[in-house]
Formats: sequence, C-alpha cells, structure tokens
Amino acid sequence: MRRATTAQPVDATAATVDEAPLVEVQDLHKTFRRGAGFLRRGGTAVRAVDGVGFSIREGETLGIVGESGSGKSTTGRLLLRLLEPDSGRVRFAGQDVLSVSRSEFRRRRRDMQMIFQDPYASLDPTKTIGASVGEPLKIFENLSRAERDDRVREMLGRVGLRPDYLTRYPAEMSGGQRQRVAIARALSINPRLVVADEAVSALDVSTQSDVLNLMRHLQRDLRLTYLFISHNLSVVRHMSDRIAVMYLGRIVETGPAEQVYLEPLHPYTRALLSAIPVPDPLAQRSRPKIVLTGDVPDPAHPPAGCNFVSRCPLAMSMCHEVDPGLEPMRESSAVACHLHTGNSR
Ligand code: SF4
Repeated sequence: MRRATTAQPVDATAATVDEAPLVEVQDLHKTFRRGAGFLRRGGTAVRAVDGVGFSIREGETLGIVGESGSGKSTTGRLLLRLLEPDSGRVRFAGQDVLSVSRSEFRRRRRDMQMIFQDPYASLDPTKTIGASVGEPLKIFENLSRAERDDRVREMLGRVGLRPDYLTRYPAEMSGGQRQRVAIARALSINPRLVVADEAVSALDVSTQSDVLNLMRHLQRDLRLTYLFISHNLSVVRHMSDRIAVMYLGRIVETGPAEQVYLEPLHPYTRALLSAIPVPDPLAQRSRPKIVLTGDVPDPAHPPAGCNFVSRCPLAMSMCHEVDPGLEPMRESSAVACHLHTGNSR
C-alpha cells in the first residue's frame, strides 16, 4: 500500500504553537491479538490505535468522536496507562509519561483522572458515597477522617448533591446522581486532566445536558483540562474547543469544534453530521443526507489505501491504493482525504 504523505500523525490539533500544551501525544500505537493462545502467542493482530497524535492546552477540551471500534476509548486508556501502548510518546506537563515505572506513574496519576460511561460499574455498590469519593483522598492525601469527610461534603456540594448523600449507597441514587458522584470522586484530588469516556452516554437527554453543563462549570472554576470522548458529535461539539474525528484507529479530521461542525471536510465527518437531527424541520429536509453503507470494516483486516474507502460515497480509484495520510489544511486543521490534499489532481 502506498502512502501519499508521511503525515500521520500530524499534530494539527494544536491551535497555537507558542503555548506549551499540557498533553502531547505522538505516534501512539496499540495492537491487540484476537484469538491469541497461551502467553498471547498467535492470533490475529488488530490495530486498535494506529499512529494517533494530538495535543491539549491547559484549560482546553479536546473532543474525540467516532463510532464504536474507532479506537477513541483505547486512546483515552493509553493516555492514562490503563493500557500500555506498543509505541509512541505521551508527555504530560512536559514529562514523559511512558518512560517512568508503573509505580512512579501511579503517584503521578493524581493529576490525571478518568470518568467512565457507567457510574454504577465504577462505584463499589457495597461502599457509601462518602467512602467512594474519599478513597482517592485516602491514597493521595494525609487527612484525618473528619478532614476527609469535610472534603467529600465540599465535593458533593460542587457537583450539586446534598451533604447527607455521604451516607447513601449507589443503588439509592439515580443514574445522573451516580455520575455526579463519579465526577466528585475524580475531582476530589484536584487533577489537572480529566479523561471523560462516554461520560453521559448512559443518561437520558435532559440529565445529559445537566451533567454536561456541570462539567463545563467545573472546568471553568477548577481550570480543568478535558479529553472528552463520545460517539455523539453534537455532544462533543457542545463540550469541545477542538475536535478529532477517529475512524479505524486513526484521526481522519481535526480542527476547531465550530469549524469541524459547520464545514466538515472528511466524508466520514459529513456522514456523522448528517445523522444528527436538526430541530427545524425545513432545515432538516434541506440538509444533505449522507448514508453510509456497510459496517465499519474488521480492524484486523483494514482496507488497502484509505481506511474509509469501503464506505465512502466519494471514493476514487486512487483511494483503493494510496493512503491519504493526515495533511494540515486550514489554520490548525488537518484531514486525511485525497479530495482535499491535492493528491487527486
Ligand atoms: Fe473517500 Fe477517497 Fe477521501 Fe478516503 S481518500 S475519504 S475514500 S474520497
């Protein structure tokens, strides 16, 4: 397979070059072995993350969007070393995250916390809310029981829960309240970076909007930096300063959120957008609809050339042979598509 450029990964997610980012990811790779036997030998290689690169400035939100199997959640887990990458580089506050031992990294993990999709699964049902939210404080801070309880009450207040929730159990709460507890727990030790992986996907629409607004307020008040991962492009747009669209383990388009949302370049981004309902029925009818045919290809057997070629309504003959690579485009944007890189001319 030919590559038109050497551009993957281009760090085109950086909006400016004069500000040192809090997070820098370069050429991240992760391959799983499907059907591997003893000692993970044999099996089929599945490239879950294939040369991903991005950066996030302090106080900013980078949204990663893509369908199931795009590699977005794996990317978040690699960043926090919940999974070990095969290769690549992750720097946090200027320090190499991957070269330190796991025990040293655990100490640094207080600055990097994660919020998961299912708060019920991430909270121990046998522990009170006070014990769950206080657990990171127990590990990372030397506080008395009373001081810890005070801090937990303060955190519950920050996420809009009454102090008496301290003695409740997860089963006594709604999904939205449990996700507020999960947020309080993640923020209890003052992290700088929060990776939110489908943090509102399990909630109903009105609760989603409450939790998203809460996360935005907390970001402003606590100067948090977010990596916000979701399959829902309108949710990602609402939360993000910049967006990276992933498909089959790669970033295929990235840029400022409004630009990606209003003027998408990659046919996959356009298809994701055309699937979002618009409140105005007239605008909905006049909007071009791009219906993708087929399923996401098996990542163990990605297509030759462009990885989107098997579903792209605009595919050309060269798309079956030449990998477009991620090419810088408009200011701080990049796209992996021959229609925009000039390779088709
Ligand atoms: Fe479609 Fe070709 Fe662009 Fe890939 S490179 S997104 S197949 S037009």
